[in-house]
Amino acid sequence: MHAGRDDLTALGVHALPIDLSTTNPLPDIEVGGGSYEAIATGGHPTEGGNVYARLWNPTVARFERALAALEGAEDSVAFGTGMAAFSATLLAALNQGRGRHVVAVRPIYGGTDHLLASGLLGAETTYCAPDEVGDALRDDTCLVVMETPCNPTLELVDIAAVVAAAGDVPVMVDNTFATPVLQNPLAHGAALVLHSATKYLGGHGDAMGGVVASNTAWAEAIRPVRAITGGLLHPLGAYLLHRGLPTLALRVRAQQATAGELATRLLDHPAVARVHYPGLPGADPRGILGGQLRGPGAMLTVELAGGYAAAERFIGGLQLFTHAVSLGGVDSLVQHPASLTHRPVAPDARPGAGVVRLSIGLEAGVDLWRDLQAALAQASAT
Ligand SMILES: *Cc1c(COP(=O)(O)O)cnc(C)c1O
Repeated sequence: MHAGRDDLTALGVHALPIDLSTTNPLPDIEVGGGSYEAIATGGHPTEGGNVYARLWNPTVARFERALAALEGAEDSVAFGTGMAAFSATLLAALNQGRGRHVVAVRPIYGGTDHLLASGLLGAETTYCAPDEVGDALRDDTCLVVMETPCNPTLELVDIAAVVAAAGDVPVMVDNTFATPVLQNPLAHGAALVLHSATKYLGGHGDAMGGVVASNTAWAEAIRPVRAITGGLLHPLGAYLLHRGLPTLALRVRAQQATAGELATRLLDHPAVARVHYPGLPGADPRGILGGQLRGPGAMLTVELAGGYAAAERFIGGLQLFTHAVSLGGVDSLVQHPASLTHRPVAPDARPGAGVVRLSIGLEAGVDLWRDLQAALAQASAT
């Protein structure tokens, strides 16, 4: 509620100010030069020395302070998208002098999987299951990448176990699905926590952003990458994302309550072969829910008994769920991962043809259930 707003009273304002300056008047060469040096090497500007918006923006910095507070981190660095945040994090890791090898625990977000597989940024990636991290490590491994709950299977991965297997190799956890409301990866030993702020943090489907939270040393390594490569978060986006944070916990808990109800109901539906939701019996064999993950969240995935054809009829039959990629907003979305978000992923790691992912919003649960029932009837009609 209050994080990242500590300077507002001194400014004489109550709501978050938006600073759109691309450049900033400098008091003198000494202050300008000193501040430039501080920011370019990853630090914060000196008083009156913001210099240039690619280096520093106060509206973005407020959002970064807020997100760091929510993740229990020393600092965070915000970007124009989640992928820009991941790209900069990966480049910073590749530049640590450890080597160019990355271990990625599958399944992960399709874009992350694709970027790593492409080798575009110079990383060589070994993909593995959560219990294979130790074997996948090499002397030149610079980063372990993981995600929990996984996308789109919603399997839960034990962060502390991956961290232990990784030894002194830093672990980055994509915390987009859980949000800081339900999970804080740094508390379980992760070095870096990544968010696509486009999803739950903003929560209203109108702002793209990404942010990576960490200790000061990592932030100081990542911020110069942002300054050089330019994947900035625009201050208007930072404003919207920061504005979304005070309602984040309320939204996540309300959306989660509805998702839990719907998951249970879907379980008994004859057109549904399988429901993936961390809160269902048997979904959490390692007992992660209630510990590392404080609640099952508001994402759920169904496997339709009728495969691709049924998925097509089901998605086509939904009225309240918008057929669209993305997730975590106030309104419910539905998408077919194999055709969309996970299309660039290697065929053997791609979700099945009958798999449909639902992002549960803030609509009344009874309305969503009525919509799901009608669409499922359509899906099973031949
Ligand atoms: C959307 C998403 C990303 C990428 O974020 P963008 O803001 O779209 O660049 C990364 N990880 C997860 C889990 C996501 O859902």
